[in-house]
Amino acid sequence: MITCDHCPRHCRIEEGRRGFCHVRENRNGRIVCTAFGHTTGLSIDPIEKKPLFHFKPGSKTLSLGTIGCNLNCSFCQNWTLSRNTRDEVMNVRAAPDAIAALAREKECESIAFTYNEPTIWSEYAIEIAKEAKRLGISSVAVTNGFICGEARSNFYSILDGVNVDLKGFSETFYSKYCSGSLAPVLDTIEWIAKETNVWLELTNLIIPRANDSRDEISRMCEWLVEHLGPEVPLHFSAFFPKYQLTDRPPTPWETLKIAFQTAHKAGLRYVYVGNSRAPGYESTWCPDCAQMLIGRDGYQIFENVLQDWKCPYCGTKVPGR
Ligand code: SF4
Repeated sequence: MITCDHCPRHCRIEEGRRGFCHVRENRNGRIVCTAFGHTTGLSIDPIEKKPLFHFKPGSKTLSLGTIGCNLNCSFCQNWTLSRNTRDEVMNVRAAPDAIAALAREKECESIAFTYNEPTIWSEYAIEIAKEAKRLGISSVAVTNGFICGEARSNFYSILDGVNVDLKGFSETFYSKYCSGSLAPVLDTIEWIAKETNVWLELTNLIIPRANDSRDEISRMCEWLVEHLGPEVPLHFSAFFPKYQLTDRPPTPWETLKIAFQTAHKAGLRYVYVGNSRAPGYESTWCPDCAQMLIGRDGYQIFENVLQDWKCPYCGTKVPGR
C-alpha cells in the first residue's frame, strides 16, 4: 500500500490498484500514470473555447484529454470522459513529440490539456509541453485546481496559461456536489497568481439552486479582487442538466446577468458570460473608456483593436499575453 500525494485526496493505493482518479496506479510500489502516451483524441479549437480570452486571442490550440478525474462533480459537463474507467477509450496512441509536431503542422500556437482533469496525467502533459516549447509552441491547461505539493510545482513550471474552474464558493458546495473541498483550490489559484508566471483566467459554472446565490457570487468576486487583484478575467458559464444533475433547468439568463453585474460591482474589470448566447457579454471592453477592444461572437473574434495590449482610445493597459 502506498500513498499518492499528487492531489489533496492522498489516496492510499494497494498494489495493482488505482486511486480515486482511475489514472494513477500502484505498480510494484511506484505510482504510475497509466494514461501516459494515450489520448481519447485530438482536435483543433479556437483558444477562446477553453475559455482563454486574454491569451493569444484568435489563435488555434490543439486540444487533447484522457479519462478520469480526481473530483466527482454531479453536474460534470464532460462526464463521458471524466467518469470513464475503460482504458480502451484512450484509443489514440500519441507520443509527446508527435503531438507537438502535429500542433506545428496544423499551425496551432498552443497545445491545450483539457476535456478531463489534466493534473492527474501531468507527467504526460509535462513531456508534451517540453516538446512543444522546443518548437516555440505554448501549453495551456483547463483544470480544477485540485492539486498539491511537488506535482503542482512541476506541472505549472512548464505551462504558459491556465483556466481554473472555480466551481463554487463554499465548502458545502464542494463537498455536496464535487466530492472535494474548496480550500486547496483557492490555495492553488492564489499560488498561481503570486508564485508563477502562468497566465491565469477563471471559470465559474453557475448552477441553479446550488451555487447561484447573489451572496455566494459576491463573496467569490470580493475574494478574487482581494487575493488576485481586479484584473484577473472571470468567465461565468451557463449550466445545462447533465450526468447526475438533471433535476433542474439550464441557468436562466437573468441569473447570469446578475452574476455579471455583481462581479463588476466587486471591482473585477474583465468579466464574461459564456455557454449562452450573450452578445456583448463575450467581448472585451475597455474598463476605463468603455470602448469595445475585442469583439467576440461565441468563440469567433470579429474585431480586435488592441495595440500591444493597450486600448487605442485611452491608452489603458489591458492584461494579457
Ligand atoms: S491524483 Fe488520483 S490517485 Fe493521486 S491522490 Fe489524487 S485522486 Fe488519488
